[in-house]
Amino acid sequence: MVFKTSKIAEFRLWGLLLTLGGMGLMILGLVGIVFDWGTIGRVIAFVSMIIGMIAMVGSVGIYMWAGMLSTSAQIVVCPSCGNQTKVLGKTDRCMVCHTVLSFDKKYAPAAEDGASSE
Ligand SMILES: [Zn+2]
Repeated sequence: MVFKTSKIAEFRLWGLLLTLGGMGLMILGLVGIVFDWGTIGRVIAFVSMIIGMIAMVGSVGIYMWAGMLSTSAQIVVCPSCGNQTKVLGKTDRCMVCHTVLSFDKKYAPAAEDGASSE
């Protein structure tokens, strides 16, 4: 994970960045037409339009994927802040307080330590 947020929040963030990036690129591409750079300007506008479109379609895909993932995520009550949050996979962060939550016993607090095993 790049950011210290829950996975679903990070997917939404990437979707938003991709949308803004695509829109920005399409606006930038219009500069070539506005300042009348001739054929090169039109080519730049066309190419940036295509890339911007792909970025925006991709962001829609990410949003849909995040939506599908969030339906399969498990809803738990965060032990740290008491709010409801969704846990994706075995380990995720709380959406509210960003505490790491995990179903993996490996990360469980060492409460049962000292019990004789094997
Ligand atoms: Zn929390």
